[in-house]
Amino acid sequence: MRTVERGEFEGGSVFIEGDWKPLSEAKVSMFDWGFTRSDACYDVATAWHGAFFRLDDHLDRFFHSLEKMRMTIPYSRAEVRQILHRCVKAGGLEDAYVAMVCTRGVPPRGARDPRLAVNRFYAYALPFVWIAPPEKQAQGIDLHISRRIRIAPESVDPTVKNYHWIDLVMSMFDAYDRGADTSCVVDAQGNVAEGPGFNVFMVENGVVRTPDRGVLEGISRKTVIELCGTLGIPLRVEPVPAVELASADEVFISSSGGGVLPIARIDGQPLGDFPGPITKRLRDAYWALHEDPRHRDPVER
Ligand code: PLP
Repeated sequence: MRTVERGEFEGGSVFIEGDWKPLSEAKVSMFDWGFTRSDACYDVATAWHGAFFRLDDHLDRFFHSLEKMRMTIPYSRAEVRQILHRCVKAGGLEDAYVAMVCTRGVPPRGARDPRLAVNRFYAYALPFVWIAPPEKQAQGIDLHISRRIRIAPESVDPTVKNYHWIDLVMSMFDAYDRGADTSCVVDAQGNVAEGPGFNVFMVENGVVRTPDRGVLEGISRKTVIELCGTLGIPLRVEPVPAVELASADEVFISSSGGGVLPIARIDGQPLGDFPGPITKRLRDAYWALHEDPRHRDPVER
């Protein structure tokens, strides 16, 4: 693999067909099953102030997804790491959204057997993408609890990061129709599942709770779970009934796109505390961890 110049494709870069290119070259075939069947898996890491955060966790999850999807890519883990570093470097980015994607590929014309397709690997880096920008977070995010049921985990394994998002996307329209900012969906038993790009947490009587199943095991979720341990905050990973979320002391969401984001209102109803004391502690600790050498991986210079 060649090396790249810093800022070679200022503003963002894609790795496609074995080389780094400008974002305008980020295209897939209409015949790729990644497009026609959402037959793809991906992961999104972030770089903040010139360093990746928890890149190893994202690589672990991506390679786990590939295995579950019975996909193979022609790059080792060390090579994928280098590709991601160079996407950020070529884009000249300090704070970045960094995606790695594998699609099933294009099977021979007329073939219907997924085993015949050659899987395709792509990666790209863009300027950092927030679930809600800091100004919106300060103003207060209104979360809508949609009645839509998340696609069953028995059908599509949610721990494999995937593009089966129509339930989540339609729940965003539900939210906008009601004047809310974003949404989360539930499971068939009426428990909270997750939202478009984030996991959901509630705090009641000093105890943090988050769903135990039917969700992507977010790296920021993992970070919050670990931080609860370090900070001595009681935590229960268990089903969270949607009705309990609506009356919690504090609610927050977690995502690589912004870390710990406090929720101000659920369906227009203000929560008791905004931002609540536990949410604030976790949010500050989340960002402080970015300085921790165990989780920091400076972008190739
Ligand atoms: N749940 C879903 C459906 C997601 O797409 C994401 C991230 O994109 C998350 C949860 C949060 O995951 P992470 O903390 O790794 O960003």
